[in-house]
Amino acid sequence: MAKATIKVPTPLRSFAGGQSEVAVEGSTVGGLIRQLAEVHPALRRHLFSPDGQLRNFVTLYLNDEDVRYLQRDATPVKDGDVVSIVPAIAGGLPESSPSRRSARKPATRPTEPESPPFDTEELRRYSRHLLLPEVGVVGQKKLRRAKVLLIGAGGLGAPAALYLAAAGVGELGLVDFDAVDLSNLQRQVLYTTRDVGRPKLSAAKERLEALNPGVRVATYEERLTSDNALELFRPYDVIIDGTDNFPTRYLTNDASVLLGKPNVYGSIYRFEGQVSVFDARHGPCYRCLYPEPPPPDLVPSCAEAGVLGVLPGLIGTLQATEAIKLILGTGEPLIGRLLLFDALSLRFRELKLKKNPRCVLCSPHATQKGLIDYPAFCGVPAAGAAPVGGTVPEIEPEELAQELAGDEPPFLVDVREPEEWAISHLARAHLIPRGELAERVDELTRARELVLYCRSGTRSEQATRMLLDLGFSNVKSLRGGINAWAERIDPNLPRY
Ligand SMILES: [Zn+2]
Repeated sequence: MAKATIKVPTPLRSFAGGQSEVAVEGSTVGGLIRQLAEVHPALRRHLFSPDGQLRNFVTLYLNDEDVRYLQRDATPVKDGDVVSIVPAIAGGLPESSPSRRSARKPATRPTEPESPPFDTEELRRYSRHLLLPEVGVVGQKKLRRAKVLLIGAGGLGAPAALYLAAAGVGELGLVDFDAVDLSNLQRQVLYTTRDVGRPKLSAAKERLEALNPGVRVATYEERLTSDNALELFRPYDVIIDGTDNFPTRYLTNDASVLLGKPNVYGSIYRFEGQVSVFDARHGPCYRCLYPEPPPPDLVPSCAEAGVLGVLPGLIGTLQATEAIKLILGTGEPLIGRLLLFDALSLRFRELKLKKNPRCVLCSPHATQKGLIDYPAFCGVPAAGAAPVGGTVPEIEPEELAQELAGDEPPFLVDVREPEEWAISHLARAHLIPRGELAERVDELTRARELVLYCRSGTRSEQATRMLLDLGFSNVKSLRGGINAWAERIDPNLPRY
């Protein structure tokens, strides 16, 4: 006989004494399930037909394998195995649920005296929350009192803000300083085509207040910096990290740790996402996971690498879920766990995260007591500051246009990816993606001037620095990239 665990799904938990896991003993999957039905007889009719056969809409997994592809009921189990019951769910609330719940639990519960009752409109608006015993009037009042700060109103912040506003979170703070760009609309569902060109935060405030006039939306149209972060974070209960760059990510983590606030982390890359809750009071922080950022040129941004539009929708919605659970104080927060999502295989995986006993920020031996210079820490230039490692020679689009029309046109190198080349490229340019440049330097000439370009000038600047380090002397980076060229020289060229 092996000792195993059966995971009980939410719809069946009320028939298993509210438990999500039940420890059972048996030698096969079928034996374990029959033992479960013996321990919790109310489950029997949900799992077995009257003639004792396992119902065909109940799918069983042994660890991560569907037992239908193993030996079904007869699949042997060993100590420590996990059997999951995966039922078919139609979606929505079962009709019987509220009355059954209210019969079991007292209808009224003590509330805080200063909290005014909900008016009839609020009762209707939040009725599907009020029906949930895990939320109810008490939980809905917690949401109304809560303040959540979203760092970034982009791909992750957009769905998170929408769901938090819909849920009735009392105050949403938004930090962002971008304007809505047409290329944002593929994933940033807060904005519409009419918003293109507007500051994101005014468009976001309008949309969120239209969704739920009961929510206060505070907007901070500024860059998050070491100078303003602590002051911005202080009034908020939960911080949501929806940033797209490492300096702001470390800054968000550090300010959250220093103020003792939970930081709901989300990140996305092409088809993959990550979610966790960093709360140094109860678990690890972002620095425990990643003590140091990757080199700035190793990880391309979404603007460079692309991202499946629906992916931030999923990850941002998971972040909103965690924020709501933290506010309600219900369920099991994603503290100490890193959830990985792969949209291509449609797979979630979970890794255990441990607190780093030598974390410079959140361990007992912490050496960092305040905020630092994050752009320098991450090796990226601050806005308007000279790049780390000195500037590289640059050329303006107008200057390049002149040179290309002259007797000795420069040798043009496009350091973007082939997908970007397919969108737009300059005539007579040579495509060598930045990642391949080091191996393909022999395709370059030292006899002529080299001009490198990318989308907006960042990658070509890094590539230019690399070529200078390799001994090339006559090399320049096109300032503003091909997008600046399209804006100022050739309006027929698409910008992206
Ligand atoms: Zn830490």
